[in-house]
Amino acid sequence: MHMMRMRHGKMGGVTDASCRTLFSIFFTTCQTPQFQAIVNNCFSKKMTMDAPPSKIRKLDCSSVTKLEVHPILDPALTCETIASTSFQALNLVNKQVIGQIIGGLNELPESFQHLKRVGKDGSVLISETEESAKQIIIGLKNDDVRIEDLKTVLVPSKKPSTRRQFEVSKLLWSTAFHPNHDVEKLLDGSFLTDSLREYVIRYTQRVIEMGDGCIAVQSNSVLSSGCPSTHPLGHPVMEMVRNLQKRTGSDYLGTGSDVFLVNEPCAMCSMALVHFRIKRLFYVRNSKNGVLKDDGWQLHLEPSINHHYEVFRVNIHDESGSNLDNVDSNSLCTLAK
Ligand SMILES: [Zn+2]
Repeated sequence: MHMMRMRHGKMGGVTDASCRTLFSIFFTTCQTPQFQAIVNNCFSKKMTMDAPPSKIRKLDCSSVTKLEVHPILDPALTCETIASTSFQALNLVNKQVIGQIIGGLNELPESFQHLKRVGKDGSVLISETEESAKQIIIGLKNDDVRIEDLKTVLVPSKKPSTRRQFEVSKLLWSTAFHPNHDVEKLLDGSFLTDSLREYVIRYTQRVIEMGDGCIAVQSNSVLSSGCPSTHPLGHPVMEMVRNLQKRTGSDYLGTGSDVFLVNEPCAMCSMALVHFRIKRLFYVRNSKNGVLKDDGWQLHLEPSINHHYEVFRVNIHDESGSNLDNVDSNSLCTLAK
């Protein structure tokens, strides 16, 4: 392998390994009924009054001059380079025996199933190592096949995940590719249709008007909303969950909903949204304790959690500029508690 990807660095002087351990304990804890009972119990004994919303300038939706909706994707999807590895290929002089030779070979190993057996120049993949390739050639007992015709080629070591990666991969070796159309739309920006644009502007404006707010939208209507309180767990997301009127008896109260937030949520709020079973999260501003941003923890992509939601950062301006200048930046999610 010729490429490595760094995803998690040090967080506040704590090492990656200890962070991972702490967070895996946190994930497990957050998803237990006991944790949910503790949270519910805390909220049922509401001890403090809600903080008044911050005063902010109202954004004129009709004069939005700039709306960027940036999907926060797995770096494995946004990466435009590919990892490669060496492989032994046979450069056949007599191309007419290619079919016969392939018929005498075992299938490629599982991890190389994305590679086509025959390259653009007509050479045939034999084996990863030179030694085993020589043994295979000897075993074929074919006069058209000679050990001296073996050569080392570079091949993509992983199946491409995106069309861009496929374009780069096939420059090295013929590669199979099955595009994921939803991912391609996120990458090329075509996911942002006119109706989604209008939808994002409408609810982003509403959540900004609330100050450091949170709104959950289900089937195009508001399911619940919340603003921070001075309760120890009174973060915007937790208050939104507490304010939910329509309790169905199911644990998964917000299945398929979209959540709008001003500030990128902390680990507790992000995990609450996992438990809430949301579909998409739109937030406006990165925050210090946020765990979703591009070069941060990206908790929503953690393989160990049992539900995943899409995350988008919204950048919105009208003719007067950004309307976030007056929003209180001391969000509960942005402060270490
Ligand atoms: Zn929070």
